[in-house]
Amino acid sequence: MQTQTGFRFRCYPTHAQAQTLLRWIGCQRFIYNAKVAEDRYYRKFARKALDLTGFYPPVDQQYSRYIDPDLTPWLQEVPSQVLRNGAVRWRQAYGRYFQGLGGRPVIKKKVGRQAVWITSELFMFSPIVNTQTGEILGNRLTIGSKKFPVGDILFHAHKDYRIPNSIRIGVEAGQWFLSFSNEDLSQVPDEAETVEWLRKFSEEELLARTFGGDRGVEIPLAGNHGEAFDFDPVQKARMEKKVRQTKRYQRQMARQRTSAVKEKRPTGANYRKTKKRLAKSHQYGKNVREDFAHKTSRAIVHNPEHFLMVYEDLNVHGMTKKPKAKKDENGKWARNQAAAKAGLNKKILTAAWGKTVTFTKYKAVKAGKLCIKINPYQTSQECAECGHIHPDNRVSQSEFVCQACGHQDNADHNAGRVLAKRGVRWLLSGGYQPKESKRCGIFRQKEEAVIGPVRSESTPGESIVSREAGNSLTRGTENQENPFVRRETPATTA
Ligand SMILES: [Zn+2]
Repeated sequence: MQTQTGFRFRCYPTHAQAQTLLRWIGCQRFIYNAKVAEDRYYRKFARKALDLTGFYPPVDQQYSRYIDPDLTPWLQEVPSQVLRNGAVRWRQAYGRYFQGLGGRPVIKKKVGRQAVWITSELFMFSPIVNTQTGEILGNRLTIGSKKFPVGDILFHAHKDYRIPNSIRIGVEAGQWFLSFSNEDLSQVPDEAETVEWLRKFSEEELLARTFGGDRGVEIPLAGNHGEAFDFDPVQKARMEKKVRQTKRYQRQMARQRTSAVKEKRPTGANYRKTKKRLAKSHQYGKNVREDFAHKTSRAIVHNPEHFLMVYEDLNVHGMTKKPKAKKDENGKWARNQAAAKAGLNKKILTAAWGKTVTFTKYKAVKAGKLCIKINPYQTSQECAECGHIHPDNRVSQSEFVCQACGHQDNADHNAGRVLAKRGVRWLLSGGYQPKESKRCGIFRQKEEAVIGPVRSESTPGESIVSREAGNSLTRGTENQENPFVRRETPATTA
């Protein structure tokens, strides 16, 4: 099985370049949204009058009808490939819908993260090389065509990459990013093979090589071998500060909005400024959580002692949702613990939890290991030594004392051990079945390749770019080797 690696690098366009790229983003979004709106219109029409028309509108990637010198002159100020890719993105989204991988394409909003997808006609990677030594000094990306030049954009590559077929350039909270994906060069075993391999171990052998991670409120993640993963104190302090900041900005925005309404004018420049600041302070927390999730999952998966990772299958989405409004017997509104649940800590933690599990999963696949999620029912009340389940076992938030055998432990550590045990049993008993993974294959039009070569990052077998041969930028092939060497015979536990 072949996997993919995604790359997301910070890039630094100048102000003028950023303005041009924003225009490209806007035009691509316009085409995409035009396709969505048109499709909706025709489907509604077809529902009412299919007998009269007799056919549904085709799902194609034509877009020339939206370009009008009088109505949409600005569409002519961007390269046609940018517009075409907007139509291609829409069609790919429809392709995913047809495969049952998602809903119909929806209108893309103008707020939040924005990006433009550009294909190889419009960009070129050109490293800055020291002419004397041949050393690569920096990364540079040239964007644009002859008619619409954007120029050189510097970017920071924090890891090795290969030149992709298409890239995305986007902006989030005022920071620009370059992102793309590469198909990995090395083959990894697929899930069924990994499961089969793990089932060769005995229960004790596998248990010694299993990581059971219990997600808690005191410590974000506690392992069955006594590991504890937590944010560092600086991050914690800064996150708290950012939360205070966020609240201040939200109040400020509310004030600015109110005064605008009072004076019967649209919100002004100061409102926009506050909005930008707010987005930035949100971004910090997001970055910290992602950093934590990456470092934690990496430490867990790349530990040579871990072959199997077990987590609870928590409904993270449900946990972060607002609780329903409650009424007491007199029909009055009662307390529903909303304030307590909205606790900042919990929110931060749940977000980091979800990400940690997701990242562990994909990192495990790349390392030829397995990460599973199990039913969390009563894991916190079960004794890891004797299996006795009782609510009284949990004497306090952090303490666990078994009422049957007297086993004493840290509650999170005990839960981690229970999870590991349950996971191993579930796997060895055959209860766990590897899932058929659906790949989002993108369908390709047969003879219309001229209009839109659907050059997707996820089209299998396309990753070996022809211009890669002899390219000095092709670095890091030796790093792509699988660091994990699989032992065929189960090793005995010490
Ligand atoms: Zn016990």
